[in-house]
Amino acid sequence: MSSRRQFWATVTAAADRSYSKTDPDATFMRLKEDHMRNGQLKPAYNVQISTSNQFVVNYSIHPNPTDTNTLAAHLDQYEKSFGRSLKSITADAGYGSEENYTMLEEKKIAGYVKYGLFDNRQHRSFNSKHPFSADKLHYNPRGDHYICPIGQKMRYIGNTINRTVTGFLQTARMYKASNCSKCPLNGACHKSKGDRIIQVNLNLERQKRQADELLTSQQGIQKRKRRCFDVEPVFGNIKHNHKFRRFMLRGKQKVEIEWGLIALAQNIRKKAA
Ligand code: SF4
Repeated sequence: MSSRRQFWATVTAAADRSYSKTDPDATFMRLKEDHMRNGQLKPAYNVQISTSNQFVVNYSIHPNPTDTNTLAAHLDQYEKSFGRSLKSITADAGYGSEENYTMLEEKKIAGYVKYGLFDNRQHRSFNSKHPFSADKLHYNPRGDHYICPIGQKMRYIGNTINRTVTGFLQTARMYKASNCSKCPLNGACHKSKGDRIIQVNLNLERQKRQADELLTSQQGIQKRKRRCFDVEPVFGNIKHNHKFRRFMLRGKQKVEIEWGLIALAQNIRKKAA
C-alpha cells in the first residue's frame, strides 16, 4: 500500500521562487492543513510511504508536490532495501499515469492503481452526464476511424506527442469529425468552434482497461478497502496522535534520517501494541 503526505520543512523565510532560501532541498507546496486555512504556500517535502499491516516497509522523500513522478524512485528505494521487486502495488489516482503504468509493466508488478476518472466512472450518473465523451464513441479498427454520436466517421488526421517533465513521450492519435457546424448536436456534443477533434492515447486506454480489470476484481476490491485501513492510519497516527507536522532538520539527507526515526518509532509502537 502506498501513500504520501506533505510535511513542513523547518524554515520560515518566504521566497518568491518555488524553493526555500533556507532549505534549498525543500519546495513550496500548498499544504492542506495550513493552520491559517488560507492556502498559504509552505516549504515542504513530499513523504511517500509503503506499509504492510500498518508497518512502514519503505519510505522516500521528494521535492515534487505531486505524486505522479515519485513512484519510480519510491520503488527503486524498495528494491535497493529488499533486493527484490514487489509483486503488486495498490495506490490511489495520483499515481495513475501512462509513465507509471508502463514502468509497472516493465517491472512485472501488478498495478492496482487508479487513474484520474476511475471513481467517477464507477457511477452510472457520471456516465449518463457525459454521453458524448470520446471514450463512449465506437472505434472501427479496420477503417481506423471513430463514429461520432450522429453516426459520421471521424477520420485519423495524425499524432500529437507530449513529453513529460521526466522526458517520457506520450503519443495520442487525433481523429476529426466533419461538418459539425450543420449538426443538430453541435454544442451538446462538443464546445469547440470548428469540427470536433478527439485525441486518443491507445496505450494509456489499454492500460486503463487493464487497471479497471484489476481494480474491480474481487482481489482488487479487497486491496482498495485494505488501503484505507493500512497506509492511511499510519499517517493519521504520526500526524494527529503524535503531532508530527514539521521536520526539525534541514536538507533532504537529514530529513530522510529524521523520517526514518519517525517510521522506526511507528513500527516499534505497532509491534508493542
Ligand atoms: S457535432 Fe460533430 S462530432 Fe458531434 S455529432 Fe455532430 S457531426 Fe458528430
